[in-house]
Amino acid sequence: MAKKLQIKVAETAGFCFGVKRAVNLANKAPKKYPEQEIRTFGPIIHNPQVVNQLAEIGVKQVDKVNELKHGVVIIRSHGITKQLARELKQRPTLTVIDATCPFVRRAQEIVEEMSEAGYQIIIIGEHDHPEVAGLISFGDPQHTRVISSPANIPNRFFTKSKPSRIALLAQTTQSQQLYNEVVQSLSAIKGELRCFNTICTATSDRQSEALELAKSCDCMIIIGGRNSANTNRLHELCEEKQPASYHIETADDLQVEWFIGKQTIGISAGASTPKWLIDEVIKSLEKFA
Ligand code: SF4
Repeated sequence: MAKKLQIKVAETAGFCFGVKRAVNLANKAPKKYPEQEIRTFGPIIHNPQVVNQLAEIGVKQVDKVNELKHGVVIIRSHGITKQLARELKQRPTLTVIDATCPFVRRAQEIVEEMSEAGYQIIIIGEHDHPEVAGLISFGDPQHTRVISSPANIPNRFFTKSKPSRIALLAQTTQSQQLYNEVVQSLSAIKGELRCFNTICTATSDRQSEALELAKSCDCMIIIGGRNSANTNRLHELCEEKQPASYHIETADDLQVEWFIGKQTIGISAGASTPKWLIDEVIKSLEKFA
């Protein structure tokens, strides 16, 4: 008799503290400001299904500053640039709700403080991610470098006759393993190194649990927006341990052939994936089982 498909769901799968807070603020805004137009600058979180649900209750996304003339604007969980935040707060016809995650805010403060103290800033992250663009804006962009691997560390830090002063931090959703590798490489620089592990606990706990699941399951499903940095990272990490790892946005993306001959399916999800999307995937998998 064929064995039953076993489904193991990570306890850390789904909304993190920062995303829950941002989505709650957005959900409450229409009641709090019934007469006003409510907008988010960019997607409030990187999950298209949640962004669409908010649009249905009138909380819509805008991508250009000149579209924000009056009403209420909600600053997304991964923050905006220092200049833009200042500009929005100065507009008398706009009410600003700041949903920037406190972990992102802390990383912004570190960039600001260390930059003012004369350190060169190294950020481990994705150059094009809005969180990283925000972080860069809190320091001196001329003395800030974004790297995605130890190989991107400029050679001059190791060879300079004048010692360097470097402050290292990471985009909050980066991999802990990459952070450790960069710290290891930078320990050989000539000069002073200050390390700030700004990877948030929601990310590191989720990564550790998903990796353990990937080792013990013969297929992994990672649920989350394709534009979600932390979901993509989760998928990459799981794939290293379990090649049969798939990144999906919704239950419709599941393909029955992925599960042929498999017995244990692990499920994890990005920090911006709502519970109802995870439940739908579990229901579909139970049907396959
Ligand atoms: S993943 Fe971390 S930094 Fe990002 S919103 Fe969640 S708690 Fe905040």
